[in-house]
Amino acid sequence: MSEDFKITFWGVRGSHPVPGKDTIQFGGNTTCAEVSAENARIIIDAGTGIIELGKKLLSEHFSSKNPDKQLNIIILFTHLHHDHTQGLPFFAPLFFGKSILNLFGPINFGSELKLVLERSMTPPNFPIDFFQTNSMKKMYTINDSNEIVINSKTGDVTLLNKYHDKVPENNENLKIEIMNDYSHPANGVLIYKIIYKDRVVVFSTDVEGFMFGNSKLINFAKNATILVHDAQYTKEEYVALPIPKQGFGHSIAEMAIEVAKKANVKNLILTHHDPNRTDSELRKMQSKYRRRFKNLTYAKEGLTIEVD
Ligand SMILES: [Zn+2]
Ligand SMILES: [Zn+2]
Repeated sequence: MSEDFKITFWGVRGSHPVPGKDTIQFGGNTTCAEVSAENARIIIDAGTGIIELGKKLLSEHFSSKNPDKQLNIIILFTHLHHDHTQGLPFFAPLFFGKSILNLFGPINFGSELKLVLERSMTPPNFPIDFFQTNSMKKMYTINDSNEIVINSKTGDVTLLNKYHDKVPENNENLKIEIMNDYSHPANGVLIYKIIYKDRVVVFSTDVEGFMFGNSKLINFAKNATILVHDAQYTKEEYVALPIPKQGFGHSIAEMAIEVAKKANVKNLILTHHDPNRTDSELRKMQSKYRRRFKNLTYAKEGLTIEVD
């Protein structure tokens, strides 16, 4: 396996999936990204993009030298809205007995992660109970006092409390820091910062910008190699009557660019595209906003970026 630290996008849409001729280039699946370094693999969110990723993980596992070994999977949920969880019931490793699913996510409407995922996959809404699936599940409800450490060689996972536990010094480790953001209704989201060998990916979806930029996020993403940021709406949609999108908990490209500039990030990736946005509109927006921030890319399904 490659030693490279990289991020791959499997789903880049907000709200709901949009298959069809106008979304072939950027893709129609909802949010899912994969961050990998050596043997460690981290999945962010389980929108419908996770379905294809699940097939790939299983086929790689079965064609590996030792298909009897455990399949260790880590999923970080930014929050538990439907467009970030709806692929999970169709994620093939969930049904594979040798899988260990390490699932990390926030409290949602007062409910633990375990309860929310269980509810999203319960008869009569779905034929199989979440906890009747064959995989072993380890559920972790987390917040910004936690840090997660993953060994890049073994994939072993350790959950720490940053105020009490010492992060083990080992440059084989990936470290994940967490920021709470409350701009997204109704419970906000977790923003993840994944650090490996001094390179940094910050994943910040379902966030709405603030006047002068989101200061907390600017500080959190300072000098990041890659900042992935929500940019669901256009400036016009954000204020247009009768239903302005202001307050819906999503950003416009201008907000993401302000954060990226003030945080001095190297690359900005815009994501959580509005389901109504066509490929040609996204291409035009990418050209327009590249004039304001040179290393700017609109996320698309299948896009892999090296973090360096
Ligand atoms: Zn969303
Ligand atoms: Zn959401």
